[in-house]
Amino acid sequence: MKFTHLQKLQIATELIQRKMRVSIIHSITGVNPKTLRSLHREIHGTRPASGQIPTTGRILSTRPKHGMASVFAALYRSIGTAEIFNTLNICSLLRAYDLHLELSCGIIGNNPNVHPINITQAWVIARDISIGVAYFCYCQYCHIHYLLTDDAHVPPACPICTLRKQEPKLSIM
Ligand SMILES: [Zn+2]
Repeated sequence: MKFTHLQKLQIATELIQRKMRVSIIHSITGVNPKTLRSLHREIHGTRPASGQIPTTGRILSTRPKHGMASVFAALYRSIGTAEIFNTLNICSLLRAYDLHLELSCGIIGNNPNVHPINITQAWVIARDISIGVAYFCYCQYCHIHYLLTDDAHVPPACPICTLRKQEPKLSIM
């Protein structure tokens, strides 16, 4: 996908508003990291976060996180269509992420133990889907497609059913 300079700045601003890591925004938009950091300070009044970018396997570390990541991935797949298996579509990612936030905040309410995924994690998941590191598995019990990786920290089973304390069998698409 080719963007004009103005579009790149607009996308960078949208991603900064959602607190995506500067190094990733730079790789997506090509906008200078120094410009991105000062934009971040201007918008949030703080320095942007730094440090290691997580892998999808690490994001899938607990059942609630697995559930949240799967909800995001399902929305991203629905919006981005089968193209997401070949390319990371940043516009679809933004739409899916915002929907995920909207839905999950309503579901989670004030539960301090469950959090929506953040925009950096959303990008990592979308990237890993596009290169086949993260993939969808079908649950024959609740009929959803949930997200999984070979190195996930949770056992390979449906997060929804597991959270309901059932024992589903795995079936990979
Ligand atoms: Zn299930």
